[in-house]
Amino acid sequence: MQITSEALERAIEELARLPGTGRKSAQRMAIHLLKQSDERVLKLADALVQLKKSVQRCSVCGTITDRDPCAICSNAKRQTGVVCVVEEFQDVFIIEKTNEFRGRYHVLGGVISPLENIGPDDIRIKQLLERIGSGDEQIEEVILALNPDAEGEATSYYINKLLLNYDVDVTRIAYGIPMGTELEFIDEATLSRAFASRASF
Ligand code: ZN
Repeated sequence: MQITSEALERAIEELARLPGTGRKSAQRMAIHLLKQSDERVLKLADALVQLKKSVQRCSVCGTITDRDPCAICSNAKRQTGVVCVVEEFQDVFIIEKTNEFRGRYHVLGGVISPLENIGPDDIRIKQLLERIGSGDEQIEEVILALNPDAEGEATSYYINKLLLNYDVDVTRIAYGIPMGTELEFIDEATLSRAFASRASF
């Protein structure tokens, strides 16, 4: 095969590195971009450059933001005494979409995982304790919203144990049956958790 455009080849190679993108779709994207106006393509290129340049971590909660502190931490209308602990910043977006939670967040940036050599000091647990201990936000409740897998569970237990030394209520989101699912399709672990976290009707 002879390549007539090194530039096109390079674009295809880079696009093919994106998750869920094979060489074929990378090629389609590159050719599509080639057919667009200069302005359109420069806008995309600029958005990507800005993504890397402007996005940083919020020094309070650890989510990604263009301005520090983030829009949630600096919003006076948000409830200050309640902090929801999540694994990754993507979880903040997911919970925000529900419009259910009006407090603030704390992004751990991972979970404790001995298999992957990730210990308590490698995630933002210390920062959580500092937030609670400083008293600045008058945190009264910490909601644990980690994933219900082995690492998420272990991390929740670890944090809960540490928080026994603080004057805060520790709660966790209920795990159970997804909406629209029939009982016969639920696995035993999920069903027993749903029973354990049952709430008054
Ligand atoms: Zn923040």
